[in-house]
Amino acid sequence: SVVDEAEDDDAIFADLPPVFQGYPAEHVRNGIARAWASSDAHQADAEQAFMVADLSEVLRQFERWQQCLPGIEPFYAIKCNPEPLVIRLLAALGTGFDCASHGEIQQVLEVGNVDPTRIIFANPCKAISFIRHSARAGVHKMTFDNMDELHKIARGHPGAELVIRILTDDSKSLCRLGLKFGAPLVTVPPLLAKAKELGLNVIGVSFHVGSGCYDSNAFADAVMRARMAFDMGKEAGYDFNFLDVGGGFEHANFECTAAVLSVALDKYFPNRENLKIIAEPGRFFVSTAFTLATNIIARRAAPGEDRGATVTPPEGEKEQQPKVMYYINDGVYGSFNCIMFDHQVLHPYVLTNGRSFAPVVPHKDKTVAGVVLESSSVWGPTCDSIDCVSPITQLPSNLQVDDWLGWENMGAYTICAASQFNGFQTVQVIYTSGVGEDSVKVRKALRRLAAATGTGVPAEDDF
Ligand code: PLP
Repeated sequence: SVVDEAEDDDAIFADLPPVFQGYPAEHVRNGIARAWASSDAHQADAEQAFMVADLSEVLRQFERWQQCLPGIEPFYAIKCNPEPLVIRLLAALGTGFDCASHGEIQQVLEVGNVDPTRIIFANPCKAISFIRHSARAGVHKMTFDNMDELHKIARGHPGAELVIRILTDDSKSLCRLGLKFGAPLVTVPPLLAKAKELGLNVIGVSFHVGSGCYDSNAFADAVMRARMAFDMGKEAGYDFNFLDVGGGFEHANFECTAAVLSVALDKYFPNRENLKIIAEPGRFFVSTAFTLATNIIARRAAPGEDRGATVTPPEGEKEQQPKVMYYINDGVYGSFNCIMFDHQVLHPYVLTNGRSFAPVVPHKDKTVAGVVLESSSVWGPTCDSIDCVSPITQLPSNLQVDDWLGWENMGAYTICAASQFNGFQTVQVIYTSGVGEDSVKVRKALRRLAAATGTGVPAEDDF
C-alpha cells in the first residue's frame, strides 16, 4: 500500500521525523486515515487526530516568494510554526529567520547551518537576559520601539545592530499587532537621539502591517512611513541601510501584495544599491502546507434554540440553527486555538462518510452524490463549552461516530500554541515530501543540509 511503501523509504531519513517521499499529501492523509480507521493493529491509535504536512507546498511558497519579491530576503517568523522539518527545509533553502525569544534563537541555531547573521531578534520588548544571550549567540540584529529598550540594549548588547520598529496602519489585518508594538513616527526622532547619545548603532527601520493582512495597500502606506523614518535617521546622524517590511503576507492575495509593495519600494526607495531589504513572513510559508484530520468521537442532536445560545454563527448565517452536534478529538485548546488567537473561521470537509472513504465534500454544496447535507456544529473534545470549532457548517446527514473530518490550511498559529488541557494530547505531524519534481527538490534540500551539518541522511546518497 501507499503507506507501507512510504514507511520503507523513511529509513533513510535516520534521525529526522518520518517523511513520506513522493506521495501527495492527499494519499498520505487518506491512506493513514483509512489504515487507522480500519486496522485492528492500530486500534489504540485509531481515533487520534493528526496533521499532514506537505513539505513540497512550503517549497512552492518559497519559490513563489522568490519569483514575486526577488529583492526581498524572507526571514521566516518561526513563531508561526516551529516544526523542526519546516525550519530545516527553509534553512536548507537559504531563508533567514525572525525569532522572538531565546528559545527560538536556540532552535534555529541548532539546525547547524544558520549563521547568526541570518537571524533577526524581532521582538521590540525583550528581557535583558534574552538580549545578553543574543549577544553571546552572535545575533546582532534586533528591533526596538521604546526608550527603556535602548537602555537595556546599551547594557546587554551595546554592539547590536538596531532596527527601529515603527507603527503602521494595521486596521485591515486579522491580528492588529500595532495595539502592542511600533513607535509612532512622532516618537522616532527622540528615540534616535537617545540611541545616538547611548552610542548605539541603528541600521534601519522595520514595520509589521498586522498578521493576516488582506489589504495590500497597507504595505504601500507602511513603506511611505518607513521612508519618513529613514529621513529622520539621516537628521539624527545615521545612515540607514536596512529595511524590514515585516510579515502579514497572505496566500490569497500574495501576488497583489507583492506588486503593491514593489511599486512602493520603487517610489520611496528608488536607489537601493546600499539597502538590504528583508521581510518576516510567517503564515505565507506554512498555512496551506498543513491539513488536519480529526475523528468524530461523539454526536448528538442539537438542543433547542435557547440551549444553543453559546453558539454564535458567523454574520449572515444567524438564521440557521445546527441540527446535529459533532464532537471531534481536537479543539480550541489544541490545534484549533487559531480560532481564538488567530480569528479563524473554519469549515471541515469529509474524509470518511459512513465509515467508508469519501470524496472531498465542499461545505457549501447542499447535496453531494445524493447525500443530503444538514446544518451541523462541530465541537472539540474538552468539557468546556467555549470549545466550539465550527458553530455552523454543512455536513452529510449520514456521518457517524468514527468518521473522519479534514481541515485545510492548518499550518499557521495552530500546533505551536496548542495545550494539553483536559489531558488531550497535541496532534502528531506526519510529513510528505509531495510528488514529482517538487518532492525531489525537497529531499535534495534536506539531504544537502544533512550533509553540511552531519545530521540526518548520508551525504553520498544521490537522487
Ligand atoms: N514578525 C513579527 C514581529 C510578528 O509578530 C509576526 C506575527 O505575529 C510575524 C512576523 C509573522 O506574521 P505573519 O505570520 O502574518 O506573516
